[in-house]
Amino acid sequence: ENREGVHPANLDSYSKEHFPLCMKTLFTNFRTAHHLKHGGRLQLLLFLKGIGLSYEDTMNFWRTEFTKNSNIDDSKFQKEYAYMVRHSFGKAGGMINYSPHSCIKIIMSSIGPGEHHGCPFKHWDANIMKQKLLGEYGLGTQSVNSIIELVNGGHYQIACSKFFEYTHNQPPSNMISHPNQFFTESLNLAKE
Ligand code: SF4
Repeated sequence: ENREGVHPANLDSYSKEHFPLCMKTLFTNFRTAHHLKHGGRLQLLLFLKGIGLSYEDTMNFWRTEFTKNSNIDDSKFQKEYAYMVRHSFGKAGGMINYSPHSCIKIIMSSIGPGEHHGCPFKHWDANIMKQKLLGEYGLGTQSVNSIIELVNGGHYQIACSKFFEYTHNQPPSNMISHPNQFFTESLNLAKE
């Protein structure tokens, strides 16, 4: 967890450079559609909390993004979406301060239509994964094939660690087991 805190203005560049695929997907969808279904909201919100986005900044970011949606005004936001932020920070409901989801939890989640949470290595169609890795991330065919082979064998976290390695020119210090670990290791490399 990053105790120094994260400035909301950095979220877009952080997403581009340091988020794992699962969170980059959610963040990008949230920014584009100004909406996420429940599972995605929770997965992203707890991750952002884990990287050090404060309660106030999270609430502001959430409100700004949701109310860009033409179907959501401020009163609807307060009624339907603000509670999850308060709840996740232990300010409502059971007053439990929730932790960000681990890879295992994300990999085990079930994904319905129109939902963007989950782990891309587990939940995406292999062809879509292949195209993204080749096109968007510019990985070589050999690297992509080795990732797809791991995916086909059900080794999602190792596939994610390889993705880290190919996009950072060095492997993570340990196998990726948590999206917040991916972020922290990636950010630390950039600071070196
Ligand atoms: Fe996210 Fe973990 Fe899947 Fe990587 S392995 S994409 S960090 S859930």
